[in-house]
Amino acid sequence: MIEKIVIANRGEIALRILRACRELGIKTVALHSTADNNLMHVKLADESVCIGEAPATSSYLNIPAIISAAEITDATAIHPGYGFLAENADFAERVEQSGFTFIGPTSESIRIMGDKVSAIEAMRKAGVPCVPGSNGALGDDPETNLKLAREIGFPVIIKASGGGGGKGMRVVHTEATLLDAISLTKTEAGAAFGNDSVYMEKFLQNPRHVEIQVLADGKGKAVHLGERDCSMQRRHQKVVEEAPAPGISTKLREEIGATCVTACEQLCYRGAGTFEFLYEDGRFYFIEMNTRIQVEHPVTEMITGVDLVKEQIKIAAGQGLFLRQEDIKLTGHAIECRINAEDPTTFMPNPGKISLYHSPGGPGIRVDSHMYSSYSVPPHYDSLIGKLIAYGETRETAIKRMRNALDEIVVDGIKTNIPLHQVIMRDANFEQGGTNIHYLEKKLAE
Ligand code: ADP
Repeated sequence: MIEKIVIANRGEIALRILRACRELGIKTVALHSTADNNLMHVKLADESVCIGEAPATSSYLNIPAIISAAEITDATAIHPGYGFLAENADFAERVEQSGFTFIGPTSESIRIMGDKVSAIEAMRKAGVPCVPGSNGALGDDPETNLKLAREIGFPVIIKASGGGGGKGMRVVHTEATLLDAISLTKTEAGAAFGNDSVYMEKFLQNPRHVEIQVLADGKGKAVHLGERDCSMQRRHQKVVEEAPAPGISTKLREEIGATCVTACEQLCYRGAGTFEFLYEDGRFYFIEMNTRIQVEHPVTEMITGVDLVKEQIKIAAGQGLFLRQEDIKLTGHAIECRINAEDPTTFMPNPGKISLYHSPGGPGIRVDSHMYSSYSVPPHYDSLIGKLIAYGETRETAIKRMRNALDEIVVDGIKTNIPLHQVIMRDANFEQGGTNIHYLEKKLAE
């Protein structure tokens, strides 16, 4: 087994990883920036190392500092969490070249999936259904691109091959604007991602975002853990997630799950991963694969009873995958609300000192958060300060428990989006289930 893990992340996910390590009897090293001396997991870890100044480029993205910290603490493995370097193939490579275990897929898998064009190509080969589109990067010939768009049918979406975080996308409704949109997206993509390759897809009008969680051993064995619905989004950022997705039949789940498992097996994928799909009119369309643990992983844990972070570590340690598909049973329903330090109406980040924090509780409530009274949320990073997860035997019970939890939780001193979640949890359409990815934006506009 791995003896000591470096946690190369911060906030709630760093704490989540620390908890998994403690359960497994693994020692932990918390890496942190100068702005993060007071993070909860830094206080709880066996050791901690300050790796740089507050800006992420000096600390959480500073590869040499992270590798050095692993060396001086005699750690054997590095967990990247999500965000920061989690999907950086060069980082994974450097970690392994330096003799440490990277808790995640091979750098090769990360590289393939990190480029959306190569990811789509790999998925098509493996039989995963994709959005009708250019099946490759767009060339420079205007006529060919126009012809392609006509064949796909307007509206189309131009997407950056190296894009992420909801950036580098442009919807095109008419032929007249197509060529300008392509060159504009290319220029933006080149500047933002250092890669100006773009591709074209049919723009689906009213899809839901439904994703499949997988675990794979890297030797050709994989299982899926059902799906999550993450359609409640603002600016392509998830706000609320749930599992299972309302209205997905067991048959459909098993079909799409089996397709993802086959793809993992063919690619010899290793570790935890997520196949993201748009779901419209009963059909799944692959959009991208995330090669890491995701923010919303707890909802899957709640309905399967599988600890995904522990499984990631066990797979990385070479213990393989003991779970068989028939062992994975989905029971009940779970919902997650992402709690952000931000203004609930303007969505402007609102860092600062939490004067008082009171955690909610009761049956089925889980809180994944590094918050505590007197903790100061620094201004340098993502505004996520915690995740509230409610489980119930039924979706209705999970919603009721979430409402209670949102009414109980107290975060004073800074503004949070808790009031927004209170509204969503009492929204009649959310209550019914199955709203699409545009629903929240439309509701907010009203
Ligand atoms: P990113 O890596 O930036 O998150 P994705 O490819 O996952 O990019 O897409 C992010 C979001 O953009 C999706 O959840 C969806 O809301 C929207 N989107 C992407 N592709 C399409 C499409 N073909 N049709 C409609 N919406 C899309």
